[in-house]
Amino acid sequence: MDKFFKKLPISESALKKKRICQDDLKSNSKRGLIETNLDNIIADPGLRVRLSDYNVNDRDEIRRKYLLKGPCQPRHHQFPQTMFGNTPRRFNYAWFEQFPSWLEYSIAKDAAFCIFCYLFKPEMGQQSGGDSFTVDGFRNWKDGLSRLREHVGGPNSIHNQAAVMCTNLMKSGQHIEVQFLKQSDLARQEHKTRLTASVDCIRFLIHQGLALRGNDESDSSTNRGNFLELLRFLGDHNEEVKKVILHNAPENNKLTAPEIQKDIINAMAVETLNCIKMDIGDAFFSILIDESRDISTKEQMAITLWYVNSEGQVIERFLGIMHIMDTSAHSLKAALEEFFLYH
Ligand SMILES: [Zn+2]
Repeated sequence: MDKFFKKLPISESALKKKRICQDDLKSNSKRGLIETNLDNIIADPGLRVRLSDYNVNDRDEIRRKYLLKGPCQPRHHQFPQTMFGNTPRRFNYAWFEQFPSWLEYSIAKDAAFCIFCYLFKPEMGQQSGGDSFTVDGFRNWKDGLSRLREHVGGPNSIHNQAAVMCTNLMKSGQHIEVQFLKQSDLARQEHKTRLTASVDCIRFLIHQGLALRGNDESDSSTNRGNFLELLRFLGDHNEEVKKVILHNAPENNKLTAPEIQKDIINAMAVETLNCIKMDIGDAFFSILIDESRDISTKEQMAITLWYVNSEGQVIERFLGIMHIMDTSAHSLKAALEEFFLYH
């Protein structure tokens, strides 16, 4: 059983992994061709790669995606203070109200950025000036407002040219592609609401130890089982949920099928086991196993752990049931090993 108890230097290996990821990112951007993943564009302006590092054919699509998403404005962030002489100063979130369409703030760099210039400045070549609002970030909080106004400049400033380019791009994009992106955002939101409703209902029933299915789940049934009835009840008391569940959901995406219920329950089991594993950590534990025959005469073995948690309490947690061939010590040990290997 020793093989399950080798302690890994977690922090070091995690660090190494992080380093490898960062190296990958660096070498990718050096190659100049970033693989485009439009579902995963980076929100924080301080962590984005330059637009010129993307494939030229993908750039307009990336721009549209960013413009639809809008500038990154974390209004509820605790903006850190920096000393300017003897005065502590920080980013003022009221500036978002002054410049709602373009001003962005990077939490990672504690710096301000401009989304218009990020998207279109590279196209303007050498005449486009410094990189303070696109690459490095602007941090002069002392003269913040006046410097931001300076950045906008006159009608023909670089910033305003970039703004016009953004407007033109979105106008030209008022066709299927943009509509489709909007549509898919809405569909995603509805899917999330529907899934949350199903998960909440199942979580309630599991917690109370109630059965999910009913004897007759057809539309004409007067009692369609705990799960469907609870879901309907939830919808009756929440308009937002009602709009997207059961009869209002697409036929192929109701998230109520028995397979879906089982998937959600399995996900809950995994999460619960992870919590138990986290709670045990690297501490010692003892194993309690017991086997018995179920109603179909299959032998099954229940596995329970005992351990002392960080608060000094003795905790007993049931982990699961394994089916076994026979009740000899050998097969019990084999099943136990299999269980620990899995986890
Ligand atoms: Zn700008």
